[in-house]
Amino acid sequence: MSKLKYKRLLLKLSGEALAGDNKFGIDPATVVAICAEISEIVKLGVELAIVIGGGNIFRGLAASAKGMDRSSADYMGMLATVMNSVAVQDALEKLGHSTRVLSAITMQEVCEPYVRRRAERHLEKGRVVICAAGTGNPYFTTDTAATLRGMELKCDAIVKATKVDGVYDKDPMKFSDAVMFHELGHMETVNKQLGVMDNTAITLAMENNLPIIVCNMFGGNIRRLVLGEKVGTIVQG
Ligand code: UDP
Repeated sequence: MSKLKYKRLLLKLSGEALAGDNKFGIDPATVVAICAEISEIVKLGVELAIVIGGGNIFRGLAASAKGMDRSSADYMGMLATVMNSVAVQDALEKLGHSTRVLSAITMQEVCEPYVRRRAERHLEKGRVVICAAGTGNPYFTTDTAATLRGMELKCDAIVKATKVDGVYDKDPMKFSDAVMFHELGHMETVNKQLGVMDNTAITLAMENNLPIIVCNMFGGNIRRLVLGEKVGTIVQG
């Protein structure tokens, strides 16, 4: 087996990633393409936990800005992450991987409840653990859920897989002269307002020395990262 730089990882996917070129919902072909990339690192023997956002379906903050009660809207956002998690589970299982969705909001007909020790056991057995429903609490985000799960499941790092190659000084989709950072400190991303993750998530990661690697989810990048290549932007220290 190849030598792995990261033995246990927390992969954070935004909900929007699952929508593909559409702005909304789940595009099954895109989910399969993302899962093919994920499959490569599971085959290498990485113990993998995944946290998926829900922004492709519902965002609590946006709905509360239009008058909805914030907590009710956030619970809807968390339910959206469960739908995304089940979609990713389906695609990974079709690729032959054993998976479990563990939800922070109990819905036992759909998935297991999130229990840390159970999650760890699944990881040890080589099952991909998909952590659904964020932290289970309103007013949080799935970035914070990713950091929280990353820490309690003793992951070596969080990989935030995106459509771009790393963290840039400005939006590379809009500015052709945008420059990518290779390394950043946690606080530097906050001070420079680089939007790597929300401030709660970044602070939590910083206080617990959890590195965050931002990289492109396609083109074998996550696999190369796991095998020790310098890929994307590493946020640490
Ligand atoms: N959410 C929440 N608590 C959490 C995680 C998520 O209330 O711990 C809600 C919140 O409304 C958020 C939505 O779920 O807008 C979807 O999550 P997020 O915006 O983080 O998804 P992403 O932007 O990664 O797709």
